[in-house]
Amino acid sequence: MRLFGYYDRAGLPAIGIRLADRVLTLPELDEDLSSLLVMDPDLTELATPARDLLAGGVPTVPVTQLVPAPAVPRPGKIVCIGLNYRDHVAEQRGEIPSRPLLFAKFANTVIADGAPIIRPAGTQALDLEAELGVVIGRDARRVRRKDAMRHVAGYVACNDVTARDWQGNKAALREGERGDGQWLRAKGSDTFLPMGPDFVTPDEVPDPHRLAIRSWRIPGSEPDDGREILMQDGTTADMIFDIPSLIEFVSAVITLEPGDIISTGTPAGVGVFRDPPVFLQPGDRVRVEVEGIGGVGNPIMDVAQAPQEV
Ligand code: MG
Repeated sequence: MRLFGYYDRAGLPAIGIRLADRVLTLPELDEDLSSLLVMDPDLTELATPARDLLAGGVPTVPVTQLVPAPAVPRPGKIVCIGLNYRDHVAEQRGEIPSRPLLFAKFANTVIADGAPIIRPAGTQALDLEAELGVVIGRDARRVRRKDAMRHVAGYVACNDVTARDWQGNKAALREGERGDGQWLRAKGSDTFLPMGPDFVTPDEVPDPHRLAIRSWRIPGSEPDDGREILMQDGTTADMIFDIPSLIEFVSAVITLEPGDIISTGTPAGVGVFRDPPVFLQPGDRVRVEVEGIGGVGNPIMDVAQAPQEV
């Protein structure tokens, strides 16, 4: 099953069932996906009436008429994995980690397709990271690897936006500057996790470890104004720790709950490891796509241009 997150007329996130370029919107689905998963971890109760309704010819809405929302607008936890692709380790001349490297983002980072990524004051080194997000369907506590996939409700496409100077990356630091020593601001600032509206259940993803994963930068100024520049062109086959291993490792110490996200790391091609480094500038746009799952695209906006909010 493919679900599609959108904002309803009241501006609240809702979920519909996606069928190619149309969406079946149902009033009873006007709920955050996390809440649906609490009641129905496999979404089986959703699938049956949806099938019946479709067979009965209920009207659907063209996907282009809906305002996309993140598939999981307010995840309780967002556990991210650093250095989880061999080619991404190689591009920074790192060593293959012996265990998963974990860090966290909060729900404040999650934005929808089309919403601006805000570059905060004090960083000049925004970068993108295309990632496959795993959405947890049922509580996972000290789960063994062989049982891990039972806890996966589905998949989403994410962009793990990062401020490389705050992260402490040498190529992003200017003379005399230092990183933060940890990654909270670098990874956790508002708008730093664009998430696609599409959510795909495992029965539609024969092998999550064999998906193309790509990102593009579309500069907003010369000399490449408007040109789509492919940044990352990887495959989830390159993951060092696969999804069951990640669920086992994380759930050994952190109980995962319905709607929690594991963002599984990024392949090579990010801006900071290019020569010279490439950082996202206000006016640029970025897009991330995961094969068979979906994508998310966002403009970059400096905080000085962003609407003032309390
Ligand atoms: Mg990442």
